[in-house]
Amino acid sequence: MVNNKKNKNCKYIFVTGGVLSGVGKGITAASMGAILKAKGYRVTMQKCDPYLNVDAGLLNPVEHGECYVTHDGVETDLDLGHYERFLDFETSKYSITLSGSINKELIEKERAGGFHGKTVQLVPHFTNLVQEKIEKASVDSDIHIVEIGGTVGDYEGLSFLEAIRLFANRVGRRNCLYIDVVYVPWINTSKELKTKPAQNALKDLRGFGIIPDIVCVRTEKPAGREICEKIARFAGIADDAVVNLPDIDSVYDVPFNVLKSGVLNILNDFVNDDSEPDMSRWEDFSRRRAKKYKKTVKIGLVAKYVGNEDTYICVTEALKAAGAWNEVNVLIDWINAEKLGDGDKSELELLKKVDGIVVPGGFGARGAEGKITAATYALENDKPYLGLCLGLQMACVAAARRGGISKANSEEFGAKDGENVVYIMEGQKGKESTGGTMRLGDYPAVLKADSKTAEIYRNAIDKMKSGKVSGTKDWWGTYNKSGAVSTVERHRHRYEVNQKFLKEIEKGGIVVSGTSPDGKLVEFVEAPDCKFFCATQAHPEFKSRPLTVHPLFNEFVKNL
Ligand code: GLN
Repeated sequence: MVNNKKNKNCKYIFVTGGVLSGVGKGITAASMGAILKAKGYRVTMQKCDPYLNVDAGLLNPVEHGECYVTHDGVETDLDLGHYERFLDFETSKYSITLSGSINKELIEKERAGGFHGKTVQLVPHFTNLVQEKIEKASVDSDIHIVEIGGTVGDYEGLSFLEAIRLFANRVGRRNCLYIDVVYVPWINTSKELKTKPAQNALKDLRGFGIIPDIVCVRTEKPAGREICEKIARFAGIADDAVVNLPDIDSVYDVPFNVLKSGVLNILNDFVNDDSEPDMSRWEDFSRRRAKKYKKTVKIGLVAKYVGNEDTYICVTEALKAAGAWNEVNVLIDWINAEKLGDGDKSELELLKKVDGIVVPGGFGARGAEGKITAATYALENDKPYLGLCLGLQMACVAAARRGGISKANSEEFGAKDGENVVYIMEGQKGKESTGGTMRLGDYPAVLKADSKTAEIYRNAIDKMKSGKVSGTKDWWGTYNKSGAVSTVERHRHRYEVNQKFLKEIEKGGIVVSGTSPDGKLVEFVEAPDCKFFCATQAHPEFKSRPLTVHPLFNEFVKNL
């Protein structure tokens, strides 16, 4: 067993990718992490990405997928969400390292005279700073896994490869394990798998001074052993270090595929420990997720980027996990918010047919009317509704319109005084399109003792205490004798509910169920007359894990 107080004895796993990106490098890395965690280690993960962006906050969600937010308020890409779901640990600002942020730090130091006349260079300054970031991110862990974004050989990623190569000098080669994930395509015309691109990719990696300890060969269908052996031969590595990981239906089965592949022997040698990983909770979850249940629930996701799972991945993952634990099949029906807002009949029909409605987070006026329509429909027809961030704001606008302010809207979409039921937060004016300036990360909230929302949280807190679900103590908060709940959720917003309009909102059917501890910000609302109508200014989906589903998602699905 690695026994690590700080990170003195930490072991490091570096995961690179060859041939092309987007073949599941992150999931493979996270699966190895889940296995090592199931052996009893404290495992953490980090993503190094060669973009010149400073963070992922301003990246287009259609191109780049969901923007994930760490507890300490950094906007990152969706991989960190996978890490949290697979490893049940909280990523932080140290878990993401972008070229842009490294360059920014170096340039700021240079401008402040911090280099004392020295020439500042990619090697050693950039590469050293990357290594420092890796060490920092690994504090308090036994095994730290670093995923390098992009593909080996990308011009922009070279300094990261150099940094991880040099890292072996810093901590000793035996404390580092290099994994390369390559893709082997199936060529339909000749009906064969072609290993040449993978061979070339491995040659490139060797050219950068890294000989991998494990090569994961990703294929569409299971490949014969001879494919791995061929790659091993040409790459000059041992046969059993090359394993095949074919595509499978659920990402949560990847850890089991990894276990079947024989990688465990290599991981065991690396940590010098033959103990069996305890995967029982994962097995239970994976079985439940794969099962077909008698009941199917249709959830309408009212969104701007329809059909793009990556853009709302934490939301869909939380819904599917809630389905597995509640023994129902979850079917997501994408409802086009823009069309719904324009009065499109077929979109409205879709909305009527679903069992429940989710309005996720979002920015900009496009699709806003459709989200207000969805919330109004839910209020008037007692259709279960879960509102996430913008989903809360639009629910309050819907209620205020019902309560008499016919032109109620958000200031984000041009509402003026007297109609701005949602308005810009203090100190946010003028920062609307800037990066890293929203209200980001963990903020506390207090839930009113007699609210449904508080009851949902109290039940989850009790369940966690009883040890029936896995997870960290106080993950869902605490409650006092009177039943008021103190909880913490992650945030990413610039606008908030204007409490001047609470009377009208209430008249429209919605009451406040939770606020910031000082009462200044509305954090949770609910509709007392509906079976399930809860919304939060936060993003609870960021704290939902497959094995510890967020109580709001769990309760929503239970009510369908
Ligand atoms: N656009 C809204 C705001 O900035 C909601 C943000 C979100 O849904 N994450 O407040």
